[in-house]
Amino acid sequence: MRVPAVVARPAGMQRFAEACAAIARTAATGAKVGLLADYLRELDDADLEAAARFFTGKPFAASDQRTLSLGSATIVAAAKEVWAFSDQALRTAWREHGDLGAALAELVRPPLDLGLFAEPLTPASLRVLFEEIADAGGKAAGKRRLVACERILAACGSQLEATYVVKVMTGDLRIGLREGLVVSAIAAAAGADEDEVRRAVMASGDVGSVAVAARHGGLRDVRIAYGAPIGFMLASPIEYGGAYRELAEGDWLIEDKFDGIRLQAHKDGDAVRLFSRTLNDVSHSYPEVVAAVARLEGRFVLDGELVAQRDGAVLPFRALQARLQRKDVTDELLAGVPVAFMAFDLVACGEAFLLDEPLRERRRLLEDLLSDADAGVLLARQATLDAADVSAQVQARFEDARARGHEGLLLKRADAPYRPGRRGKWWLKVKAALTTIDVVVVAVEWGHGKRAKVLSDYTFAVRGADGELLPIGKAFTGLTDAEIARLTPWFLAHETGRLGHAIAVEPEIVLEVAFDVVQPSSLHASGYSLRFPRIVRVRDDKPVAEIDTLENVEAIYRKMLERENGNS
Ligand code: AMP
Repeated sequence: MRVPAVVARPAGMQRFAEACAAIARTAATGAKVGLLADYLRELDDADLEAAARFFTGKPFAASDQRTLSLGSATIVAAAKEVWAFSDQALRTAWREHGDLGAALAELVRPPLDLGLFAEPLTPASLRVLFEEIADAGGKAAGKRRLVACERILAACGSQLEATYVVKVMTGDLRIGLREGLVVSAIAAAAGADEDEVRRAVMASGDVGSVAVAARHGGLRDVRIAYGAPIGFMLASPIEYGGAYRELAEGDWLIEDKFDGIRLQAHKDGDAVRLFSRTLNDVSHSYPEVVAAVARLEGRFVLDGELVAQRDGAVLPFRALQARLQRKDVTDELLAGVPVAFMAFDLVACGEAFLLDEPLRERRRLLEDLLSDADAGVLLARQATLDAADVSAQVQARFEDARARGHEGLLLKRADAPYRPGRRGKWWLKVKAALTTIDVVVVAVEWGHGKRAKVLSDYTFAVRGADGELLPIGKAFTGLTDAEIARLTPWFLAHETGRLGHAIAVEPEIVLEVAFDVVQPSSLHASGYSLRFPRIVRVRDDKPVAEIDTLENVEAIYRKMLERENGNS
């Protein structure tokens, strides 16, 4: 069904901000979607394309590798130029709001130089300015970015508009809209099928162009954006040695859980690109993998894990870390830490986007594709789980995988679709018994004794139901001196305020933290605390959006209770 675009009036960023504020105030997801759909219907195509992207919290399409490269410092410098406020006023506002957009909004006043702008900002004109910022290169790039940023801020006509413009710039919209809800609203606004919109967004990596295509009935023409990253499908943890009730239904396939780095490999003609789990292009770091993928025939998107290995034997994650920490890829490094790409899934092949094909079929195509691959691209081993005596098989396979240097097992349903960005029950991961959670550092403190000059004590948080960060504990053991020394300047550069002795920092550093017991506690805002927390590693590979949730913590707590009660 096609719904004609209703273009009643120019919809500036003021209207965008009003829509954001209304959506933020509304708790029910259905109502949020309704408000967004109403707003999207108002826009002409150019504004629709830009605004739909902004609602995902990012200035550019996911398939667009450009970033604004605008640090808080540049935004603050531009804001000072436009609104002339004191450092003290900003510090106070920032402390109060803990959010740059809201803090700066308090300081908005009529721009000093009215000649700086003429037209009000629209989503489409803001997009053009964003592109100017992202494309600024050469010696004067910093200055040009600053000037463009000043033009943007000077064109903001109200506090509300400035708040949301800055929030889009910093990629931190916080109005409780997941991309899934933006997809629902695009479908509702265009009268299009929601699943079709979702598939088109995943294939093209751009909600903006999909919103326009949906409006004009052109979803089927949306092409796979080879060379643009697609979200990774994720696995849910299950307990080793448990009852394996999750495996009662369906046919299951078993793979090793490789202890490496997740990578997506795109090949389109001669162009090969590798993307990390955070959807960054990391091709330059692994030239030998790029070369090995380039030698394969066809156009495709492979999913797999980069592993360090020598003569067919997997090397521990530590070996790979040596390569992760180095920017320049020297011959010595290439020879010292040989890597291979262990492929386990095929997401797209030619013009076919394989998300809805069952895993078994994707695997068949993958085997065909890799039939003449060389040692740089390997096919992950896969076996079928026999429905009889599941526990014994899982145990035997688990021990075998561990003996070969892998982390554990992945159990995958043979009929599983590929669900980008989802952690569902189609893929289950079985790890060793140690309980760990992934958390984000929200505050840091100076250490003691030989660590007095480094920030070594970290307060970390999990994510609450509404996306808020809830502190759950503090850890100061586990990292090496070198890692702490590396993190200290980062924390100092990303301070957002003071919390007593602690320095509040931008929540970006993700840690994997192991602990003995989780228990209810009034000490932290999460309502839980961890006993003997120690940092297992810094998870540079994991985006903050994917840290553990309070719900996971509650589930771990319930499991611990059940086990204790069962044992008593
Ligand atoms: P975790 O990082 O603990 O959330 O575990 C999920 C990760 O396991 C994925 O992101 C992959 O990087 C990794 N992994 C290792 N082996 C496999 C496999 N055979 N299939 C899928 N993911 C795997």
